[in-house]
Amino acid sequence: MSQITMIPSRRNRPSDAVRRMARLCGLVLAGWLAFAVVAHAVPAPATPAAMLAEADAIKARDEGRFTRLLQDLGAVEKSLSPRDLSMLHFLRGWRATWIGDYESGRALLEGVADNSPDTVLRFRATATLINLLGNGHRYEQAFQRLAKLQEMLPSIRDHKARFQGQGEASQLLSSAGQDEQAEAYARDMMADPPPGESICKGAQHLIRARREGGHLDVLDPIFFQALASCTGPSDEVFAHAIRSDIASFYLTHGRPADAVKLLTMYREPMRALNYPVLLAEFDATLAQSYLKLGQLADARRSALSAASVAIRNEFTDSRRTAYDVLYQVEQQLGNVGAALSYHEQFMLADKAYLDDISARSLAFQIVNQQLLARKAEVDALNKQNEILRLTGALARKDVETGRLYIFVLLVCLVAIAWLLLWLRRSQLRFMKLARRDGLTGICNREHFVDQSERVLAYGARSDRGACLILFDLDHFKNVNDTYGHAVGDETLKRAVDVCRRALHACDVFGRLGGEEFAVLLSDCSPAQARARAEQLRLSIAATSATQSLPHLHVTASFGVGSTLQCGFELHRLLVVADAALYRAKRAGRNCVMVGDTGDIPDSPYLASEARG
Ligand code: GH3
Ligand code: MG
Ligand code: MG
Repeated sequence: MSQITMIPSRRNRPSDAVRRMARLCGLVLAGWLAFAVVAHAVPAPATPAAMLAEADAIKARDEGRFTRLLQDLGAVEKSLSPRDLSMLHFLRGWRATWIGDYESGRALLEGVADNSPDTVLRFRATATLINLLGNGHRYEQAFQRLAKLQEMLPSIRDHKARFQGQGEASQLLSSAGQDEQAEAYARDMMADPPPGESICKGAQHLIRARREGGHLDVLDPIFFQALASCTGPSDEVFAHAIRSDIASFYLTHGRPADAVKLLTMYREPMRALNYPVLLAEFDATLAQSYLKLGQLADARRSALSAASVAIRNEFTDSRRTAYDVLYQVEQQLGNVGAALSYHEQFMLADKAYLDDISARSLAFQIVNQQLLARKAEVDALNKQNEILRLTGALARKDVETGRLYIFVLLVCLVAIAWLLLWLRRSQLRFMKLARRDGLTGICNREHFVDQSERVLAYGARSDRGACLILFDLDHFKNVNDTYGHAVGDETLKRAVDVCRRALHACDVFGRLGGEEFAVLLSDCSPAQARARAEQLRLSIAATSATQSLPHLHVTASFGVGSTLQCGFELHRLLVVADAALYRAKRAGRNCVMVGDTGDIPDSPYLASEARG
């Protein structure tokens, strides 16, 4: 059983070449051609887009006008947009196919199917190519195109284009024995025909898929409903195809008379459509039916018609059947020579036909394998990409994690640094507090001792003499007693400030306790120390004790010890200075005394220091 093609055939061309062209042309278009008989010319539209649209609409029913429109469009070809140009190529391809210029048609349609900027047009060209390639026995290419069509189909919104694509898919799959898929497409067509269409075409694909699959066991009433719905201009040929299949059913189910009745009723209108493939089917079934009925002459006539109508060099089922019937007729008539000759031709046609069927199935399997291999490749590539992506992601994750770690570490480091700084500052503050006298801010006793011992040690190493001034405010108790303890504190602070202003940066100044103070002068002689002490004494005496009591003045008594007298030991210096201070107190206070070797070591002013 040959495919029923959607491509039209030119009418009334008697040669084999034309019959071959007709073989390539579809039932739909044959129907359209019938319509073309009554079609009349319409003035050419002005714009290329309108001309293309009209050419597309009338291509199957008004060959003359269609050809003129293509010529007119060819004149303005260079000014066409890429979309319009691809439409022109599609129409030219379609026409080349129609007139039997198979190679040109294929080249043009492939160009459109592969390169058109219009998705729907690419789809339509692909569908037409499937038909063309299938009819041209280029099954492998046909199935490759079918794979592309199936890939595009879900995204095609153009209802008519979808419908055409489903029809071509069903037809090709059916020819390769893929009945389930073929039936599925046919049912889709029946379920959702585009406006202007009915279940006619879908039902034709369905019954054909069942017949070719060998499981047309019952005649579904839907086929008769479909026959009734085949009323469109392009439906007639589909209706005849359905009738051909119904007749075949009758024949194989012991009803040859019904087959003859049905086929003879429609043979003439069928013949008028000039669709040789289907006419050969009609005649082959008629021949078999007549043979079954014992009408040998009718069987021979129908068989000869089927064998001659079938396109030359095309090894169709009809031709094979025709030779088989002729062989049996001649055998029954006792014409051994003719019988042998037809049997030989039957054997040749049968082999070629079976080879063709095998070629279709093989092509389907090959393309399927190619697709599976490609899919496997794509899957492998996708997996590889996925791995790369994951690796990348992991690497990025690592980097991110690394960055996070670094960030956390930096935060920790900053926090630790800040903590260390804070601790250091706290330590310094505490150290300062620990080293300073709380009231006056100068060195406390312990810190004064530490500092002084360091200076003295340096003086001893460098052999630079140092002096110690020790002083004590005079009658300070009276200040407290007279003005209160706060004025006493203020007096202590003012006295210290006065001294600070008079002292050098390198001098070590400390409060030893109460109203007793000490200054260690480095690199200093006893005379210089006396002068410095005198300066301090005068400053204290000259300054009022407090801001609030400008008249209140305090004095202080000074004792000076020198390393020249007692060496670089602080303890000994303190003893000597204290002795000198004691002498100063005894001398009437507010004076400076420089110690000497005769100073008494158990002076009361030294008591606290002697204990420290
Ligand atoms: P002298 O001239 O002999 O040194 O007589 P003085 O009164 O200064 O000596 P005394 O040792 O009898 O008195 C010292 C007083 O200093 C006793 C104490 O109350 C007072 N004093 C000690 N430390 C402080 C202090 O930090 N603030 C105040 N306001 N008074 C203090
Ligand atoms: Mg005192
Ligand atoms: Mg004192």
